[in-house]
Amino acid sequence: MAVRAREHVRCSGPAGSGEGRGGRDKARPESRPGPYDGPMADAPLTLMCVHAHPDDEAISTGGVLARYADEGVRTVLVTCTNGELGDGPGGIKPGEPGHTPQAVATARRTELEASCSALEVGSLEMLGYHDSGMMGWPQNDAPDAFWHADVHAASTRLAALIELYRPQVVVTYDENGFYGHPDHIQAHRITVAALSTTNVVDKLYYPAVPLSAIPRLAQLLSDHGMEVPAEIEDAPFGTPDAQISAVVDVAAVTARKYDSLAAHASQAENIFFLSMGRDVFGDLFKEEAFVRAQDRTGAPLPETDLFAGIR
Ligand SMILES: [Zn+2]
Repeated sequence: MAVRAREHVRCSGPAGSGEGRGGRDKARPESRPGPYDGPMADAPLTLMCVHAHPDDEAISTGGVLARYADEGVRTVLVTCTNGELGDGPGGIKPGEPGHTPQAVATARRTELEASCSALEVGSLEMLGYHDSGMMGWPQNDAPDAFWHADVHAASTRLAALIELYRPQVVVTYDENGFYGHPDHIQAHRITVAALSTTNVVDKLYYPAVPLSAIPRLAQLLSDHGMEVPAEIEDAPFGTPDAQISAVVDVAAVTARKYDSLAAHASQAENIFFLSMGRDVFGDLFKEEAFVRAQDRTGAPLPETDLFAGIR
């Protein structure tokens, strides 16, 4: 398989440096976008996913990235941080002997490129911010942490990518960052800000887990003799089914979604999902659900296609 993403990897320069592509965007008017005339008929269909860390693309959007690539949609992954505070070799945690943030970032970059290859992501863009760690960690307060990045400056850099790729559909986290991680919350903030200063994106979605899916997940795990993690039973991330806007069938690409996650096997939390094996994983992740947060198409709900109303 051609490593398409690897050929298109870009890094926009050190976070906050003012260099790179964000820097050339200083003339952008700060006003809200002008009148909307509907989706452009001749523009190539483009999906952009904005994620916080290397590996976030796999579980919540690996299916749509792979499926839409198969359909000829251009796919763009924006990863905001380098993931320095992920697990080191052998599951070593940040601050423990043997954990070197820069080495972790380098390893995770390689993993991310392999994941993009599995999903056939068309373009990978790294914003290059420093991982902030989980909420409450002392690293939250590091001056170079993404959590402390200036939202205006960061969103200006993302807006330049939106202008460049012109996605009709953008996916990022909800205002709670799906489960409260500071970098996920910051990814939400810069994405919403970038959409407000551009006039490009027709639809914004947040990945979601329908509440009804959680007991099914628990049952599936116990049917296969697996322990049900407490986080799943407590379901801090479930969304009432009535609030789910779109459920996309990704059954045909779950093997590649598994491969994408397997590329990130250095991260302990992924090992749990990988331990299910391909069949159970495929059964569990054959659909991806989303809340439609912004829409200019008027496509009726519920949807089965993130590009409904556009094509
Ligand atoms: Zn993350």
